[in-house]
Amino acid sequence: MVTLIPGDGIGEEIAESVKEIFKAAKAPISWEEVDVTPILKNGRTVIPDKAIASVKKNTVALKGPLATPIGKGHVSLNLTLRRTFNLFANVRPCVSIPGYKTAYDNVNTVLIRENTEGEYSGIEHEIVDGVVQSIKLITYEASERVARYAFHYASENGRDKVTAVHKAPIMRMSDGMFLTACRAVAKDYPKIAYDEDLLDRVCLRIATDPTPFADTVMVMPNLYGDILSDLSAGLIGGLGLTPSGNIGRDASIFEAVHGSAPDIAGKGLANPTALLLSSLMMLRHMNLYDIADRIEKAALTTIGEGKAITRDLGGKAGTKEYTEAILAKLK
Ligand code: ATP
Ligand code: MG
Repeated sequence: MVTLIPGDGIGEEIAESVKEIFKAAKAPISWEEVDVTPILKNGRTVIPDKAIASVKKNTVALKGPLATPIGKGHVSLNLTLRRTFNLFANVRPCVSIPGYKTAYDNVNTVLIRENTEGEYSGIEHEIVDGVVQSIKLITYEASERVARYAFHYASENGRDKVTAVHKAPIMRMSDGMFLTACRAVAKDYPKIAYDEDLLDRVCLRIATDPTPFADTVMVMPNLYGDILSDLSAGLIGGLGLTPSGNIGRDASIFEAVHGSAPDIAGKGLANPTALLLSSLMMLRHMNLYDIADRIEKAALTTIGEGKAITRDLGGKAGTKEYTEAILAKLK
């Protein structure tokens, strides 16, 4: 059993598509659908306890986009989930889809971002008027944990190298310790090669030619991963196609990178590919490789053929026609 949070806006439509595809592929998954519409509790809007309890019990969840409520007193669901389940690593693969033309047709990158600390620790203060300090907090524990996951991911997914991305010549102590943790974990994985590269150099190299990154798993502190993962997503065509996984100590939550797309919500136009690819990461996380491969092949061939693709990819199909084209390939 897996928790399904369809989410807001196009969430309902794209979740429906994933459910139909899983059913046709006979994926051994049963969904526990939960509503996360914030409720009022002690004067604050919070996530219903039932949703948290479901993820806690199932430890694996697929999540659609959630609109960020505007105004005070709202507790960010994403933050709540990240804290509650200790989601320490954010995994973002970016793979070119054959037939969908972008600047490069051979992108195959995997980036793992430390998800809990670093530049996003939220520790900032004003020292005197006009002078503020923002603290980048790095712990050996979190660095070691995300590095270990990067090596684990590499060995499980047929990649022969881990690359730590850093700015240690400037951030001597913080990134320096991040590297120390990566080097220590590398010793436990003698079959996986390990190297290090500077963030700015990686940006230049990856935008110039992404090919050399096809064998490695890049691992890095929080802010670097935030920026570099969007750069990589841009290389394959962006929002409708990029999946992600939040790996945690107490649960793992897979989600599309895009938002709730309010402009097309309810119109049957949304591209469900990003959520579908996230659900395939989920299946692989659960060691259901064969079924994931089969669904992936059906979806990518459908996109490659270009006959039933959604508007964001330059086609004319709606969510339903695209989904049906995939279903036909699974029969
Ligand atoms: P949110 O506040 O939830 O992030 P948003 O207004 O920022 O919503 P996004 O979801 O981030 O909207 O999307 C930005 C643009 O990309 C919109 O024009 C949207 O229609 C489009 N888009 C995003 N996801 C998809 C998708 N899965 N299929 C088709 N178009 C999409
Ligand atoms: Mg957005």
